[in-house]
Amino acid sequence: MIVVMKPGAKESDVQAIIQKVEKAGCAVHPIIGENRVVIGVVGDGQIIDRRQIGRMHGVESVMPITKPYKAASREFKPEDTVFDVGGVTIGGSDVVIMAGPCSIEGRSELLEMAHACKEGGAHILRGGAYKPRTSPYAFQGLGEEGLRYLAEAREQTGMPVITEVMDPALVELVCDYADILQIGTRNMQNYALLNAVGKSGHPVMLKRSMSGTTKEWLMAAEYILSHGNERVILCERGIRANETETRNTFDLSAIPVAKALSHLPVIADPSHAAGKWEFVDSLAKGAVAAGADGLMIEVHGTPEEAWSDGRQSLKPKRFSKMVKELRGIAQAVGRDIPDNSRLVPSLPKNGVNGHADPAIEILI
Ligand code: PEP
Ligand code: MN
Repeated sequence: MIVVMKPGAKESDVQAIIQKVEKAGCAVHPIIGENRVVIGVVGDGQIIDRRQIGRMHGVESVMPITKPYKAASREFKPEDTVFDVGGVTIGGSDVVIMAGPCSIEGRSELLEMAHACKEGGAHILRGGAYKPRTSPYAFQGLGEEGLRYLAEAREQTGMPVITEVMDPALVELVCDYADILQIGTRNMQNYALLNAVGKSGHPVMLKRSMSGTTKEWLMAAEYILSHGNERVILCERGIRANETETRNTFDLSAIPVAKALSHLPVIADPSHAAGKWEFVDSLAKGAVAAGADGLMIEVHGTPEEAWSDGRQSLKPKRFSKMVKELRGIAQAVGRDIPDNSRLVPSLPKNGVNGHADPAIEILI
């Protein structure tokens, strides 16, 4: 429920309400506005008597949150959630471009792609170190070695990095390297994992499961938010339907629907939706026109040789052309794809003191 305090209500009145609801085992999210305080209360609605709260000092009104997802709902928080990750604002008027290879395949491959994506206009670098593969015999990712390359790519380009985590036991390790944790489509309802990333307090991008309804997706987001982790991004990446020409069916409507029901930023991933590179830019354009707060695009220098998802990966040149074209679409809907030159490297392109490999520097 939402408790709206009267303008100028006393701090002691607010504290009395917080104490009462916390005693009943509910979580409290006070929102301090210019004129009044609004208290969001999340927990078991049966325990607290709304009328009793309504009669307390300083209370103007008490409204139930009608949706089963509470902290994720617009009723709970009418204004958009906007936050900064490594100098990139997510959820504001800017459309954020996340790009990079599906899998991290090696140090030089990742660094080369990171620079190419930055030149093409990306703000955030993606790359998988732990890969959810259909076959147990397929490449499973470089693991921590891949995470190290990702962190080095961030230092060389200034771009924050996002990578998938699949195991609750690895959340702490992935947090040491990544700026955003990605929950993949296959793990949207992995509640142990959602609890672990929620507790980490790290920004999380939650992909919609390939068969998930919007309600199930927002309930999954609620798991993360319920730990007080408010930096959650939703990502639509295509759903299973009867079509086989594309890998998944891009659910364009998920973008305005999720944005209407929730205050969380919504990113679109046209690469996993299309499954074929030639359709990626059309879906990307549709997503930006429909109000997406950003895109996640798979990019590879030699897609035909990629270790995963080469068929849907754009070459850097095509990626760069697409970003240029997207700028016009963003502007047409009152948004902007900002220049990424504000993201400054903390390590020179060729490693420490110009040496290609920091390890060599130590030996010299
Ligand atoms: C990925 O981003 O490479 C990935 C595996 O995505 P999804 O979980 O959407 O399939
Ligand atoms: Mn992929």
